[in-house]
Amino acid sequence: MYYNKNTLIYLDGKFVKANETTTDLYSQTLHYGYGVFEGIRAYETENGTSIFKAQEHYDRLKKSAELVNIPFNYDVEELVKASYELLEKNNLSDAYVRPLVFCDPNMTLARPNNVSIMICAWEWGAYLGDKQLRLTVSSYCRPHPRSIKIEAKVCGHYVNSILATNEAKDNGFDEALLLDSDGFLAEGPEANLFYEKEGVLYTPQLGNILPGITRATVLELAKELGIEVRQGLFSKDDLAVADSAFYCGTAAEIIGIESVDDSKFPKEWNNTLGKKLQEEYSKLVRKSDATLSTTH
Ligand code: PMP
Repeated sequence: MYYNKNTLIYLDGKFVKANETTTDLYSQTLHYGYGVFEGIRAYETENGTSIFKAQEHYDRLKKSAELVNIPFNYDVEELVKASYELLEKNNLSDAYVRPLVFCDPNMTLARPNNVSIMICAWEWGAYLGDKQLRLTVSSYCRPHPRSIKIEAKVCGHYVNSILATNEAKDNGFDEALLLDSDGFLAEGPEANLFYEKEGVLYTPQLGNILPGITRATVLELAKELGIEVRQGLFSKDDLAVADSAFYCGTAAEIIGIESVDDSKFPKEWNNTLGKKLQEEYSKLVRKSDATLSTTH
């Protein structure tokens, strides 16, 4: 599904065959989840393939590594260039790009001296965007920010996301909604939350969530469209009386939420602020320069 015998990956400066690459089973990343990664999307645009917010994603990769003391001696621009080369070599345009910084063999808990970086990519077709999610509030909360670096995209943090996702699916829902450790709304297992109430958008403030690049894009788009957004600590009860809601993330883009624990949002999706933002987001990612007019 992710690769075949011709697929190339980028590994420490070289392009190598995915099926001929090996890794060390004594890697600290494999044993302790001590590695950092990114999830990036590339889109086919009028002027060829465009990796959406490539620089921002690689900046976040670097920041994630620094936050958890993983050495990161790569040049962000080089990595962006390598990602474009990788897509070209694999003949991909609408694709998902996955960089991973992983550690050398080390069974101790001391930080590693050396790391490797790999970037792989696979086809990811255009998202259709009509589906709406049925969520359930998870029994798992997001990790406390004093336990981990919540703003870093660290491999091991995703056990929390996997537990929440599987619990939701096992209970017949599409996706989980996680609260923070104080019981305030936080985020999905791989997406940020927004909801609409009386023409205003609300989203959990930074501090207990991953600072999503799509979330930042939604904030920019909302500003451009003159939509007011309030960031703060909000509760399940606030969400229960919202008019509509959506998740946003690189993979999901912007996706409507139909219900939370079978309680439906009253507003028809096509009339929501989320729908409007979904359309604008879809246009933006397919622009070759992918910058907003306000940021020029
Ligand atoms: N929260 C979590 C926990 C995530 O894993 C992701 C996906 N990276 C997001 C939010 C959305 O982030 P982004 O928009 O940068 O993809």
